[in-house]
Parts: sequence; C-alpha cells; structure tokens
Amino acid sequence: MHHETNNRHTRQTIDAFLDVLRVCGIALPPFLTAGPLVDADLPPQALAWMRDFIRLHQRAAPAAASGCVPVAGRDSDLLPPLFTAIMAFQGHEYAWHTPGHAGGNAFLKSPAGRAFYHYFGESLLRSDFSISVGRFGSLLDHSGPMGESERYLARVFGSHRSYHVTSGSSESNRIILAASVARGQIVLVDRNCHKSVKHGIIMANAIPVYLPPSRNRYGMIGPICPEHLAPEAIATGIAQNALAARAADPRPVHAIVTNPTYDGLIYNVALVEELLGRTVDRLHFDEAWFGYARFHPLYAGRFAMHGDPQNHGPAQPTVFAVQSTHKLLTALSQASMIHVRDGRNPVEHARFNESFMMHATTSPLYPIIVSNEVSAAIMDGRDGQALLTDTIAEAVAFRQAMARLHADFAARDQWFFNCWQPDRVRLDGKSVPFAEVPMHDLLERPELWTLDPEAQWHGFTNFPANYVMLDPIKATVTTPGIAANGGMEQTGIPAPLVAAYLNARGIVPEKTANFTLLFLFSVGIAPGQWQTLTDALLAFKKDYDVNAPLARTVPELTRVHAQYAGLGLRDLGESMFRAMAELRLSELMAEAFALLPRPVMTPAVAYEKLVRNEVASRSLSQAAGQAADCVAATGIAPYPPGIPMLMPGESLFPEPGGAPQTAPVLRYLQALEAFDRRFPGFGHETHGVAVAQGIYRILCVQ
Ligand SMILES: *Cc1c(COP(=O)(O)O)cnc(C)c1O
Repeated sequence: MHHETNNRHTRQTIDAFLDVLRVCGIALPPFLTAGPLVDADLPPQALAWMRDFIRLHQRAAPAAASGCVPVAGRDSDLLPPLFTAIMAFQGHEYAWHTPGHAGGNAFLKSPAGRAFYHYFGESLLRSDFSISVGRFGSLLDHSGPMGESERYLARVFGSHRSYHVTSGSSESNRIILAASVARGQIVLVDRNCHKSVKHGIIMANAIPVYLPPSRNRYGMIGPICPEHLAPEAIATGIAQNALAARAADPRPVHAIVTNPTYDGLIYNVALVEELLGRTVDRLHFDEAWFGYARFHPLYAGRFAMHGDPQNHGPAQPTVFAVQSTHKLLTALSQASMIHVRDGRNPVEHARFNESFMMHATTSPLYPIIVSNEVSAAIMDGRDGQALLTDTIAEAVAFRQAMARLHADFAARDQWFFNCWQPDRVRLDGKSVPFAEVPMHDLLERPELWTLDPEAQWHGFTNFPANYVMLDPIKATVTTPGIAANGGMEQTGIPAPLVAAYLNARGIVPEKTANFTLLFLFSVGIAPGQWQTLTDALLAFKKDYDVNAPLARTVPELTRVHAQYAGLGLRDLGESMFRAMAELRLSELMAEAFALLPRPVMTPAVAYEKLVRNEVASRSLSQAAGQAADCVAATGIAPYPPGIPMLMPGESLFPEPGGAPQTAPVLRYLQALEAFDRRFPGFGHETHGVAVAQGIYRILCVQ
C-alpha cells in the first residue's frame, strides 16, 4: 500500500516535470535516473519521451553522469553535422600529413609538450585535423560535412547561404568587401565602423562616403538617422566628397551599417533596408555583437536575416550579415559567420568564394569551426529562446535594481549611479516607473525598449518612433557629471576611476568612457552574478563618500604611481573631474566628431604612402605647424568606442592651408594629451596615436 502511494506520487512528479519541459519547448533529451523503479511504474508519456534510462543501481555514479552526454549515433539528431562526423571518427589513421603533432603524439616527447597535452586535453589535439583528411570535406570548397555544416548554419540563422570564418568578423568584413567592391567604386560606410572595415576599404581601393551616426551628451553612439539614409542625402554626400565626386561611376555599389551600435542601439532593419535599398543594391550589416538576435522575439525585424529567407528575392537588395559568434554567442575566439541573402545584383557563391579563399587560411582549426556550429545548435529551436529569456531577465533584474537604488538615494538627496534607460515607460496607457514594470512585460514587449523620439533621457534626436531599440542585455551604467542639457554638472565622478576601483575587485566592464561603463549580459552569465556588481557599486559609493584612501581602495594605482599615494578616492575623482571640465573634454569630443573631415586621398593611396615610407611621425604641435596640409597616414580612432576621428587620407585641417586653432580634431587630441600627462594610469587609448614620454605623435603623409 505504502509502495503504491509512493509510486503514484513519483508518477505525478514525473508528469508535472515533463509538462514543464514541454511548455518551455526545451529539446532536452530527458534521461531518467531510476532506482529500483520498474518501467511499469512510469507514466506512458514518460516512456514515450525518455531517451534512455540510467539505472543508478546498475552503474557507478560517474559513469551514469557521463552517460548523460548524448553520444554520436544514438543521439545524433541533437548534434550538428560536422561535430557528429568528428565525434564518430574514432579510428586512427597513420597520418603522413600535417599537423606535425600527429593527434597530440609529438607533445608526449617533452615535459613542456606533456604539460600542454594534459592542460588542453587529448580531444582538442585529436580533433586538430589537417585539411588533407578528406572525410570532413573542405572549408574552402564547402564540401562534405563542412558544407553540410554551413547549410545547417543557413537554416538556423535564416540565410540563403552561410560561411564559417575562422579569423573573426575582421576577416568576414574583409571577405565581403573584397567580393563586392572593386577599385575606384563608391561604398557607403557607417562612420561608426570597425577597423576591419577600414582595412577592407584599403584592400579594395574603394572610395568611402560616410554615413554619420548620431551621438548623445555622453558621447554614446546612436543610429544613423533616416534623413541621412535617404537618396537625396546620399547624393549630396557624394557630391560634397572631393574623391567621390570624381569617381568614374557615381553610384555606390555597397553600404555598411553597424547593427547594433557599440552602446546597444538596434536599428529597425526593415526600414533601413527600405531606405538604403533605394540607392544601393548590396547591404552589409556588421552584426558582430548580435548573433543572438534571431532567437528571441524581442528582436523581431531588427537584424539583417529577419523573417523568412524564402520571402527574400530579386526585388530586394542583396543582404550580407557578419556575426562574431565568439562575442555574445558561445563559439571560441576567432569564430565568425557570414550570412547571405541574394537579392538584386547578387555575388553568387562561385564569385564570392574567390574572395573567401583569398582571406581564409588553408589550415583552419576544426575545433573553432565546430564551436561555431555548436553555438548554432545551442540556439536552435526554442532552446535558444529559453536561454536568451534567462539572459535578458538577468539584465532586466540588474537594471531594475539600479533604478530602485538610484531612486532610493535620490529620495535622501544622495547621489548614486544609474542605468542608461527610461525612468518611466508607458504601459497600457499609464506611465509606470521602470523599476515597477512587471518582468514579463519587459521580456515580451519590444515597444518598452524602443526609444521615444520625444523623450529626453536618451539625448538623441531626429529619428522616428519605432526606429531605434535599446538592447536590454547591454547595460550602460552612468556616473554623475553630465547634465540633462549636455553640459557638465558642478560635480561629478569620472567613470575611469570607478572602472579602476571595480578592476581591483575583479570586475571588468566591457568599456569605459568619461561618464559611462558598459556591462554585457551574455548567455554565459551566472544567475544573480549582477549582485556582485551592485554590491561593488554600493561599496564604491561608501568609499567615495568618506574619501577612503586610494592606497586601500585602488592599491595597484598608488603602488605604480607614487603621486597618488596620499590621496583619497574622492580627492582623485574631484581633481579628475575638474581637469575634464577645464580641458572641455566632452565638448571638444563632440566638436571633433561633429563634421566629417576633408578627404585628400583614398585610404588605399594613404596606405601606399605608408608602404613607400613617404610618411612622417609628428607631435601635435609639429602637425599644427604644417603650413600646407596635414593628412593622416594611418587614421586616428579614440578608444572606446573606436570610431575613426580621421580615416587614412583625411586631413587634420577643415580647410587647405592649415588653421590649427580651429582644427577640432587637433584640439581634442591636445586636450587628451594634457589630461593623460596629469593623470598617469588613466591615459586614453587612441588607435593611430603613439605616446612617448607623454607626447602624442601621429603618422602624417609627407
Ligand atoms: C569586434 C568587431 C568586429 C571584429 O570581430 P572579430 O571577431 O574580433 O574579428 C567587427 N565589427 C564590429 C562592429 C566589432 O565590434
């Protein structure tokens, strides 16, 4: 009798558990670990659903655990094609080909090699195959399991064709540009582009015409506004560009847009496609940070491969997307994907592959490719949505906690950090404080994350409703210091000091600007991990308010730079803030980026000068003294966010003849140089600027 009740209870529990799995839509293969239960005790739906039984009384526990890993053959429908092929290859061939370590054997012949072997593990080395192993096909001709794997990516990511790339989205961008743009052709380029786009333009010898992104008072990068994407605006941009105006063919052949921006602002891609598609046949979305978009309905319509690929045809532009699957999906570093939808003026596979082969290695590391494929498998079906829901929920919990803390301190007239997000949102006709919006609404309703053009908090203008959306998983923490009108407050706390404090506690933000810190919530985030961050921010506030000694709070700083030894946290924060105000860092940055610089030669010609050594390294005062003109040889991009202030071939001076006192780029660099000299340990990183003994030097064309 007692046995009967127990079994009924077990049966109900199993039933309830299976219901939960079904509702979540999770494609987990349920394994049942059973004690003395017999099959007759199980509910029929469990028998149908279960993959296998692991009898705890029959196997030792560790063996049972390893039995839970799906193995090739039995569960191959759970594993993607290339991984299946590699796992199934148990045999060992006598290899007379590379790699020379021969499945790891060579490592066993020396102590350092053995340490390497044991540290990284046998399977990594055993799966490091040469391209001569025919059974896996070839990445370069997309055959065999390699080709199958790429077709699998295409299905999962919604493209017509997808490509595995093993040298990052840097390589992906260069491949696409080389396949689509020829010498002297015009390409429309988001000025907010990654440096690999610059490299692709140099290699293609193309003429870039820039699409200017917006910026707000924090210097955050917003979208390119629709007015700049309209055909008339593009025609004006081409006519006003001295190099493009002379191009043999005035029509742009290709356009590149970074989606989302570094600060997590996502485009309404369907609208961008419609607007840019009026001028150009081929659109290229750099979605390095956005591989997950397809797998959660919150992002519907906001990524390049949106909707059904079957509905994309010759009436639409050809669309390329680039994704760094290692950035926010789960692939290993270097893994990237290219997705293509053919439309007007396509670059069909055979021609595209010439460029692919020109950039790809002939010896790719298979574990990188498999990790790319597995990152797709992890997202496939509704598993991806469940994982992303958890990730977004973590980010939302953090954002709401920050909003609550900010409000609590404000009620007591005290400062605290905030998250860059609306204070209130409209929910069913009512205005609700962000912290009080129910979680499920924030998880399900994209309209709660789209930027209202009328709202003040974001500081962007000139875009329509439903054009830009804030990505919940990219959380920007703001520090006090910037007023709502864009000017500086009387007091403030520089974010780089907060970053140094957090670093000393093992917390590393993705990027730090003057008054903002960016934190990314990836699928790898641990539940509740954000609480260590709010704890650390609260600890910072406490230490800052009592001016705790730097020697205790940021010990590394005082150890390396003796000048800070006697100071407190607030002493340093206040003096940095005063220097930022005095040097007008924020205003000068805004001015430096306000107007597009004057192009004197194409990036490719500037690069040729570099190769021929027809360049000179100049300090800022030497550059200012150039009577004729001062043309950047390598380009200059302050980091973050790494947007070029000058591209190679562009002049430091707005007008020929040189007017250093009015050259905004020069003035901003001078201000950065002065700040860096006063605050060692807080120097700015600027690509294209070499710093020696506190002096900034740039490479100019002679
Ligand atoms: C990081 C990044 C790249 C390059 O990606 P890698 O995979 O690191 O080579 C390209 N574009 C953008 C916008 C990026 O942020």
